[in-house]
Amino acid sequence: MSRERLWFRSALLPDGPAERVRVEIAAGRIASVEAGVDPATGEACGGFALPGLPNLHSHAFQRAMAGLAEVRGPAGDSFWTWRELMYRFLDRLDPEALEAVAAQAFLEMLEAGFTRVGEFHYVHHDAAGAPYADPGEMAARIAAAAEAAGIGLTLLPVFYAHGGFGGAPPAPAQRRFLNDLDGYARLLEASRRAVTDLPGAVVGVAPHSLRAVAPDELGPVAALADGGPIHIHIAEQVKEVEDCLAWSGRRPVEWLLDTAALDRRWCLVHATHMTPEETTALARSGAVAGLCPVTEANLGDGVFPAREFLDAGGAFGVGSDSNVLIDAAEELRVLEYSQRLTRRARNVLAQGAGRSTGRDLFETAARGGGQALGAEAAGLAPGAPADLVSLDLDAPELAGRSAEAVLDGWVFAGSKRLVDGVWRAGRKVVSGGRHHRRDEIAARYVRTLEGLLR
Ligand code: ZN
Repeated sequence: MSRERLWFRSALLPDGPAERVRVEIAAGRIASVEAGVDPATGEACGGFALPGLPNLHSHAFQRAMAGLAEVRGPAGDSFWTWRELMYRFLDRLDPEALEAVAAQAFLEMLEAGFTRVGEFHYVHHDAAGAPYADPGEMAARIAAAAEAAGIGLTLLPVFYAHGGFGGAPPAPAQRRFLNDLDGYARLLEASRRAVTDLPGAVVGVAPHSLRAVAPDELGPVAALADGGPIHIHIAEQVKEVEDCLAWSGRRPVEWLLDTAALDRRWCLVHATHMTPEETTALARSGAVAGLCPVTEANLGDGVFPAREFLDAGGAFGVGSDSNVLIDAAEELRVLEYSQRLTRRARNVLAQGAGRSTGRDLFETAARGGGQALGAEAAGLAPGAPADLVSLDLDAPELAGRSAEAVLDGWVFAGSKRLVDGVWRAGRKVVSGGRHHRRDEIAARYVRTLEGLLR
């Protein structure tokens, strides 16, 4: 079996940063890791190596509308006015366009340091709301885009049946998302078929939200996960909390904790608005909080109680959600800064005195993200999938830094500009910060956008 040897000036290993590290890759996995060694003649050399970060929540198609919802409307711009624009945009999105936009989004994720994406996929039917001949048509387009970009995929087909709490009828603008339970089971089967040739792909389930799923549908949808991940949007908006209280007398996270047997397979996306009791109970359930700090800031959602959640032993990961901006370091930075701004304190999410905030943010999000996406245990250790990112240690932002200071430099002073190389399942897909298929995938994306936005 052929082995590839890579040497890095430093690296984040499971027990901390180390200098002069050789990583051997065989059959898409890490075969060995050695620290404190010199490079051999002719060996491929890199800067600072770290595991790829999972991106646990994405709606890839929304990349195409990034920056288009930033003009002030007549009154009260909010998540809900943004959603109106998103629905209008969907009227024009066909399978070809979805594939082109998703490939570009996935390419940008790899260039930004993400090596696996949880695609929360809810556009299932044609523009009139009629099912495609193959119910997995759009899922197959997501899979094709993941294959073209080379990103690891956790596909989360969405169950969406209603337009409000308690089974309210859907709005016409939601026609492309809708299924009953039988239709959803067929969609899930077709989605599983769509990813069979994609190495390392995982399929989970995604009851969209308590607005879109009636109480008697939640159990059957979760049961279809068959051991895979279960993702749900929850408590993103204050209005959603108020509507849930009016409907049930309970808050969304409270309702879910009382109703579903939450455990490590679950990912609650956003969970922004929680009481201290909900925060503690969610942390103890073992479920992951799926935080999307850049999107939550862009949409004006609110601030997640991250310090309290971590103190109660909670697990979180990060996601790029609306993909208004795709940058792993930026997600971690905005998460920490939202806490600093509301608490008027620094280094809020570091796990103790003397700890690096950047490293603690990264390692916590890597662990939680991997759990939420049903991914194999990651990290630069023998047996793990060879999903690696290297940062450019010659960049001015990292000049003169010790290995211990690199993650803080990346998260707080850098950005995706510092991502130099990316390997996914042992295959190098980004060199010098550029995806190896960037020209072709970006050209198709630009052509698609010219059509979509005309
Ligand atoms: Zn979302």
